[in-house]
Amino acid sequence: MEKRIVILGAGESGTGSAVLAKAKGFDVFVSDIGKIKPHYKEILYNYEIEWEEEQHTERLILNADELIKSPGISDKSEIMQLILKKDIPVISEIEFAGRYTTAKKICITGSNGKTTTTSLLHHMLRKAGLNCGLAGNVGKSFAMQVATKTYDYYVIELSSFQLDGMFEFKPDIAVLLNITPDHLDRYGYSMQNYVDSKFRISRNLSEDDYFIYCSDDEITISELERIVMRARQLEFSHDKQVKEGAYIEDDVMIVKVNNTEMKVPLSEMALKGRHNAYNSMAASIASRILDIKKEVIRESLRDFTGVEHRLERFIKVHGIEFINDSKATNVNSTWYALECMTTPTIWIVGGVDKGNDYSSLEPLVKEKVKSIICLGVDNAKLHEAFGKLVEDIQDARTMKEAVTKAYKMGEKDDTVLLSPACASFDLFKNFEDRGEQFKECVREL
Ligand code: ADP
Repeated sequence: MEKRIVILGAGESGTGSAVLAKAKGFDVFVSDIGKIKPHYKEILYNYEIEWEEEQHTERLILNADELIKSPGISDKSEIMQLILKKDIPVISEIEFAGRYTTAKKICITGSNGKTTTTSLLHHMLRKAGLNCGLAGNVGKSFAMQVATKTYDYYVIELSSFQLDGMFEFKPDIAVLLNITPDHLDRYGYSMQNYVDSKFRISRNLSEDDYFIYCSDDEITISELERIVMRARQLEFSHDKQVKEGAYIEDDVMIVKVNNTEMKVPLSEMALKGRHNAYNSMAASIASRILDIKKEVIRESLRDFTGVEHRLERFIKVHGIEFINDSKATNVNSTWYALECMTTPTIWIVGGVDKGNDYSSLEPLVKEKVKSIICLGVDNAKLHEAFGKLVEDIQDARTMKEAVTKAYKMGEKDDTVLLSPACASFDLFKNFEDRGEQFKECVREL
């Protein structure tokens, strides 16, 4: 009998896995507790894959030989508890798809900057003429591309949830951007569990592979002291020179790989801010390992326009600049957004608090923020944290109210920054919806 593969969750990664599993001749079944989007239903139908929605039928799931779980599904869910009790092997889409490609894989993880760095690196490799796919949390799923394309390279964004379901998968180049507290609710509120999850990216690396990391990140450094790392290590730092890797000196990025050196002034780069200097260093090191020409890297850094909802400079209205940083769903990413601000800032913050500690933002708020708009169902914690630091702090229950109030508070040469430091699910579908609504309301001003 064919091996039975059951897939939980029919979003981008689940549907892609189903298509690949079907192409490889497995007995495939897809189950989603919610409603499946019409687009994905159509794909399942076209590939003649069996599926169900708004339920999990145990008898069709618990007979799986292997289960592929979408990253969004928690082990604590009822169905996962049953699956784990039966000792059915559970893997992620990336683990599954990795079995069926021999392409070189450059994988990027971290608490923040994954999508930006993944997209930037992909941009560099495409510009260099490599036949390269972009996968993971961005764009089309890895599995779907492995099923339908023949790429020589993949740049893959890996979240900790995907890493949790990875066992044999091996990147050729692994990038760990940073580790700051996030998603601790899914890791038993243990930071070490979360760190372990991030470091899974390196567990199968051999002496021929590369591990790129940020040596300004204390958590990464102390973990590296604890574990055995076989891969060649290259570091990047904003604060000090490094022997091999990249660093910043006098506002110039210096990349040293394989006894070669390249320099790019930060002023030439399209992506601004200290966090983007980190992302640019990481992408440039990976490109140099792959022998991408310096000129191509330099040009890519110059013309990469960034990714929507990440410190996206949207438009100016009567001299007030509106910046959409809806993707800032934790304190650390908002820290970098505030750090980048150069004009008096009206800051729109709030949403679903994932156990945030706002104290690290206080000095930046004092220095840069003139007024705050709290956009969330429960704003009490924000008032407590920031109420005394600014003259004006107000509440809003809709994006329209927030944008209108911010616009009224603003004067010429101010900035209105949406950088919520929180998840979006109280008032919005997701961070994209929050960012779209922001831009729509700004357009209507
Ligand atoms: P991820 O995919 O890891 O969520 P994104 O590239 O989507 O990362 O960026 C998420 C948020 O973090 C944005 O607000 C962005 O401006 C900010 N950010 C980007 N790179 C970094 C970094 N290296 N360190 C901290 N924050 C970052």
